[in-house]
Amino acid sequence: MRREAHVPRGGVDGGDGGDGGSVILRVESSRRDLAHLRRKLVYFGEDGGNGNKKKQHGRNGNDLVIPVPAGTQAYDEAGRKLCDLVYPGQEAVVAKSGVGGRGNTHFVSSVKRAPMFAEIGLPGDEFKLEMRLKLMADAALAGLPNAGKSSLLRKISNAKPKVGDYPFTTLAPVLGTIERPDGSQVIVVDVPGLLEGASEGIGMGHEFLAHFERARILVHVISLEDAEHDPESVVRAARVIQGELWKFSPRVAQLPQIIALTKLDLVSEEIAERAKADVSHAMEELAGERGPILDIRALSSATTQGLSKFLSSLFQYAEQYGDGTPVGDVRRPDLQLEEYRVFRPRPKRRRWRIFREKSTFRIAGEPAMRLLAERAAEDEHARERLYDFLEESGALRALKAAGARNGTTVEAFGIPLELWWNADPDDDPYELAEALDVDVANDDV
Ligand code: GDP
Ligand code: MG
Repeated sequence: MRREAHVPRGGVDGGDGGDGGSVILRVESSRRDLAHLRRKLVYFGEDGGNGNKKKQHGRNGNDLVIPVPAGTQAYDEAGRKLCDLVYPGQEAVVAKSGVGGRGNTHFVSSVKRAPMFAEIGLPGDEFKLEMRLKLMADAALAGLPNAGKSSLLRKISNAKPKVGDYPFTTLAPVLGTIERPDGSQVIVVDVPGLLEGASEGIGMGHEFLAHFERARILVHVISLEDAEHDPESVVRAARVIQGELWKFSPRVAQLPQIIALTKLDLVSEEIAERAKADVSHAMEELAGERGPILDIRALSSATTQGLSKFLSSLFQYAEQYGDGTPVGDVRRPDLQLEEYRVFRPRPKRRRWRIFREKSTFRIAGEPAMRLLAERAAEDEHARERLYDFLEESGALRALKAAGARNGTTVEAFGIPLELWWNADPDDDPYELAEALDVDVANDDV
């Protein structure tokens, strides 16, 4: 109430409460995993501020933005997918904010000049989300068996693939996350069986093709170990891999690539330099069957020699090719997938359900509705709001569609509620049902 000297009976002046903040997921292009979500399990949007004197509105609460990597999907408890986040910057509101209650100024009527009550706001969404991540590797390792792929991945990432000096050691795709101090991440995948046995003419496994197809760059891994006594070995390996990749998928073969010459510790600097030049030259000849050669780096997973330069290069190009700008005529293989994937902010989540009982209807719904229903019996305003709510949320139409008559008593959260409405010319049950896309079934409408 307004209370001021010299203003007797100042009247009502309570402002409305502010809306709460929502919880939003947003794709950060530098994120690659959901590990950060493990640290905190419950997320809140900020509360809305209380309404105040002099009809002041409460402040709206800030939204809470949770950064997630591209490829994140959120599911509700029933296993329904709420969103599929793919593009950097893409957002999904996963929990909508509550709505502020109205201040007492709204409740002045001819009989009640000075209502001493105000509304309690509606609570926001509250539920459990299951977060899943469809990993999208930035870079895929390609190389002959024993080239040192698994060793390299072990060394540079958190992945622990098996390392062995015989082929077929790697049985399942291994994805490793490499993280830089600034928090940016790159995912590298070691796909098993893909080129194992390629040099012996054994075919490639296509099982894990998808991993390869989604990668943006290839890391072409070639061992230097035989370069000393068999100088041709490096170029030969490059040709075999490039040929196999081409047979496997020209699109994959044409991904931009970084060439990693491994086991640098086993050869002299001089031999490594020559191998680089040879490979570069051989790649010129294969121009039609490959994508751009971004870089050629010699390194050793054993001594870490050359590793940091290789990593800088990997980060630089993963970033360059990861943000959606196809360079030259190289298409980002996943771009197509993404373009066709439709993002819906949220499937129409009904805030209520209506069940047809023998002679009546039963409404079930969110807690806010229950509160209103409980108060509706005594409180005229709560009753009005419940009506508004049923109207706005479409529940009333659904009831009509299901055949509820004017004056029908429905059971709302265990509370009998007589519903009256103004007759509406377009209240044909079938039209209503169609408009609402509800099945007018017997027990569950
Ligand atoms: P993959 O088949 O390509 O995955 O190759 P692995 O990573 O399993 O390595 C094959 C063999 O090469 C293993 O015996 C490794 O110990 C060895 N190896 C891998 N990297 C290096 C390296 O940088 N230096 C040396 N000396 N040996 C290595
Ligand atoms: Mg391996």
